[in-house]
Amino acid sequence: MSERLDAIVLRQVDVGEADRIVSLLTASRGRIDVRVPGVRKSRKRFGGLDLYVRAEVELALGRGKSRLSSMRILDDHVGIRSDVERLALAGYAAELMLQCVAEDQEAEQPFRLACSAFQSLGGASADAPGGQGWARAFELKLLHVLGNRPILRRCASCDGPLDPDRLAWSLQAGGVLSGDCREDDPVASRIAPSLAGQLDRALRLPLARQGELEWSRRDEVEARHVMAHFVAEHVGPRDRARRFLEQVLQPNSTLGLAALLGVVLLVTAGPLACLPGDDAAGVRVQGYLYDTLEPQDDEEPISGAEVTAWADDGRLLVEGAEHSRYVGFYRVSDLAPETAVHLEFESPSDQWLSTVLSGRTASNDLWVEPGVFHLIPRDSYDSDVQAWVEVLAPDASLKSTWGDVQHPGEGGAVFGQLLNPEDHLGLRLSFVDSDDVARAAVYTDAEGLPSRALGITEHGGFAVFGLAPGPAHVFLTELDGTSSGRSFVTRISEGGVTSLSGFEVL
Ligand SMILES: [Zn+2]
Repeated sequence: MSERLDAIVLRQVDVGEADRIVSLLTASRGRIDVRVPGVRKSRKRFGGLDLYVRAEVELALGRGKSRLSSMRILDDHVGIRSDVERLALAGYAAELMLQCVAEDQEAEQPFRLACSAFQSLGGASADAPGGQGWARAFELKLLHVLGNRPILRRCASCDGPLDPDRLAWSLQAGGVLSGDCREDDPVASRIAPSLAGQLDRALRLPLARQGELEWSRRDEVEARHVMAHFVAEHVGPRDRARRFLEQVLQPNSTLGLAALLGVVLLVTAGPLACLPGDDAAGVRVQGYLYDTLEPQDDEEPISGAEVTAWADDGRLLVEGAEHSRYVGFYRVSDLAPETAVHLEFESPSDQWLSTVLSGRTASNDLWVEPGVFHLIPRDSYDSDVQAWVEVLAPDASLKSTWGDVQHPGEGGAVFGQLLNPEDHLGLRLSFVDSDDVARAAVYTDAEGLPSRALGITEHGGFAVFGLAPGPAHVFLTELDGTSSGRSFVTRISEGGVTSLSGFEVL
């Protein structure tokens, strides 16, 4: 039995000596994974079968996986390979399609969308495809064909008209909230007056013309944040291609060290932004406070903590407060966009240690699930420290580089986890506190226990003790102590812990 189909190649994986499995998107049968025998040995039969091409394929249907018996290229979309931006956008579109199209299910609309997407990226036109704007338009169009298009023209809660100066974006409500309806969702993020209209225009303009649409920097950053959540919720959470796309499209990638720490950094339009210009609005950071990064549904957030926001140089930025309407919900407003901020949560009781979280406002290179801050529980900290003392105490040379681990209450400690340790194996982290005292980090092994390694291990965990309170500089150095040229600022709390979980070295 055989079957002839119009198909687009979304993915290919080499198997065995010479074969390849390709994932095809088709209108009548959705996604089909087929084996292409001998394709890597001989280019004769299936030459030209490559990622993102459109082809008429003939499948031999047997038991198990279908096999490709013949094919004819309909459109090679060769322009996709002409630059890395087109390639990254095509990869992103394919990743989203693979997540939302099921096997053996009609997928006429997603197929048509894929055709126009790869055509717009693969055509001969020399015009830029539109970068981030193209990616947002593709997401919106895909959500539209899946029946989950965000509500952009009316208030998603009351269906009333939008008040441009009082808008927020709500994942829960499925789009834009206006006026008092913004309070319906405590984690709704304020958005710029122009954002909803801009997304609506991107949705309606053909993909091939997205390059015509001009985006302000602020709309672009906000759109990326709000749509990332929407897509993760309604299409799928996989984001490898997205991260590649972010790297490719980053305006300037010399970011030094950056960190994000379970802090949600949401861009918002302050109601009375006081700075001139388009990028003037204040940024708001907000979330519920728990003693874990992954709270259970029935877990009560911690109330009564004091939160303070500090700049890199130790300047007090904002004293935040617990939101009066939602217990355990904290918000710090009016921060500058795209800047470092260190949030210090002062523990309301002995049960927790005061905890510092460092991050950047509205940063697009970094991403964590929104809405959760965390305080370190005292008992888990004490038992961690005990384990470190037991392993390291016999080693005098290690001990001398440390703060006094036996008295962790003096000064402050840092516990961290690198996101990308494999890129920095063997390099060292050293901390210089506000008294100008330098301390080397100690690293963890595969079990999360302190290791004797002198540099960053595959596990990526590290800790430092006995740092003076205030700003602290983190330096990434070579083994011999020469600087790698990369440094980062965090903040130490007296008797507390700075939690650098998800610390990314760029
Ligand atoms: Zn409303």
